[in-house]
Amino acid sequence: MEILCVYCGDLFEASPRHKNQIACKKPACQRARKAEWQRRKMRTDPVYSAYQKISQKEWARTHPGYWKTYRKNHPEKADRNRVLQAVRNRKARTKNAHVKMETPLIAKMDASKGDGFQPLGQFWLIPVIAKMDALKVNIVKVPLCYP
Ligand SMILES: [Zn+2]
Repeated sequence: MEILCVYCGDLFEASPRHKNQIACKKPACQRARKAEWQRRKMRTDPVYSAYQKISQKEWARTHPGYWKTYRKNHPEKADRNRVLQAVRNRKARTKNAHVKMETPLIAKMDASKGDGFQPLGQFWLIPVIAKMDALKVNIVKVPLCYP
């Protein structure tokens, strides 16, 4: 029986031995599936999550300078992480009873310059309601003659 891959949207032949199969055999889809599995495991399994954190710390200790170099070579990833960390901090703070609302609610990522009050680019919409996830949006200029 053929089913749709949730990652690439292609049809693939489902293995009769694997129930609940959601991803095709393509390496990118398998990587996405494994990454999703790990993210869920980190969220739901405190023991696994604790071991992963220890293991990551140990790896970073034996590879000094790796993350510094990575951030230097991938400034867009560093920016993204800064924004997402702000979201995580906000979530952590709003768990406490004394909630303080903060600005900015919209973090500017790579907006093009010189547009006055017409910011274009990639943004993160960071909700005030703590339970909601941040949303990445791309704002583009549409010509006036657009149908
Ligand atoms: Zn796929």
